[in-house]
Amino acid sequence: MATAGKVIKCKAAVAWKPNAPLVMEEIEVAPPQEGEIRIKVIATGVCHTDLYHLFESQQIKGFPAVLGHEGAGVVESVGPGVTDFKPGDKVIPLFISQCGECRFCKYPKTNLCDRNWSSKHYDVMSDSTSRFTCRGQPILQFMGTSTFSEYTVMNQIAVTKIRDDAPLDRVCLLACGVATGYGAAVNTAAVTPGSVCAVFGLGAVGLAAVMGCKNAGASRIFAVDINEEKFKKAKVFGATDFVNPKSYDKPISEVLAEMTNGGVDFSLECVGNTEVMRSALESCVKGWGVSVLVGWTDVKDFSARPIQLISGKTWKGSLFGGFKSKECVPKLVEDYMSGKIMLDEFITHNMPLEKVNDAINLMKTGECIRTILNISK
Ligand code: NAD
Ligand code: ZN
Repeated sequence: MATAGKVIKCKAAVAWKPNAPLVMEEIEVAPPQEGEIRIKVIATGVCHTDLYHLFESQQIKGFPAVLGHEGAGVVESVGPGVTDFKPGDKVIPLFISQCGECRFCKYPKTNLCDRNWSSKHYDVMSDSTSRFTCRGQPILQFMGTSTFSEYTVMNQIAVTKIRDDAPLDRVCLLACGVATGYGAAVNTAAVTPGSVCAVFGLGAVGLAAVMGCKNAGASRIFAVDINEEKFKKAKVFGATDFVNPKSYDKPISEVLAEMTNGGVDFSLECVGNTEVMRSALESCVKGWGVSVLVGWTDVKDFSARPIQLISGKTWKGSLFGGFKSKECVPKLVEDYMSGKIMLDEFITHNMPLEKVNDAINLMKTGECIRTILNISK
């Protein structure tokens, strides 16, 4: 490529500060260093975690940054020492790396890689180094990925190669939301055939959890949301019962207990609200119920009565659906291509990068499931 080894000037949406619209800017993207890959981003989804950083995290240290972590693209050039990737490869940037060598990568039951940005910098949701500058200032790479940009640079341990015929404007959803919710059900909860499940929050993450419960053979799936507009989509993904907690005078956990003879076998919280996390736990049946935290929040402590766990329930969390990223995402792409999992059904809007603030507003107001930003051809 003519651009290899040179600084690329390109468009990106920069988050200069919290609680403010993103600003379209020309940024400079440095060439990839040792072990790094520069990627031309083709498409990206907008996930609630981008909104969390911008509006909810109460964090001022993680700015200025380029947000976006649900993208897919094509390799533009590779740095020294990169042998597994070449220009033109279709790839998915990953917010969880898989170095394959650390204690965590070698342990079969976790997908947390010790060389990820998050192992040291969870507070700012970015590594302190970046290949981006704008107006003379370094710009952070949110979650290591920064897909709201025409180009990004990633370490090869956080990039996975996918098949050549995969549609990038769909499989980008496997970089976060769909893999997260689906894996939370099939891996972390390990939903069993015939079981009764409840999914709280029906954004893309929750709908993917519904799809996971269905594919794992659940016999009944309660879809719980305060926005009833989401119920129609939940049905498409396999939900069988629909509950709006606001329609009842009593706690939702009591409502579900009555409907299920004592509580659900599995519950998944896909909202990011500590009160809902508690409700999801309390909605599980005593003895064996499993409740999984998927929604993202780190600003508040949560609470629960110890008896909830003493009585035999399990409370656990799930990051990126428990999938070891580099090896599992290409398999999820195969699952989409063979029809085992849905992706198209999550997409409600498509727009260019310039409209990113509209996409953010659609999520804020609950009008979209996923907006795809089409960044390059
Ligand atoms: P979204 O905003 O599209 O969906 C959230 C849904 O929750 C909406 O439908 C909303 O109406 C519903 N909701 C809000 N308050 C509720 C309540 N009190 N009870 C029931 N439903 C309620 O968001 P999303 O992109 O689907 O993401 C969902 C959550 O998952 C976010 O917190 C996000 O940060 C998190 N997330 C976690 C991971 C992970 O690895 N654990 C990865 C991606 C996203
Ligand atoms: Zn996300």
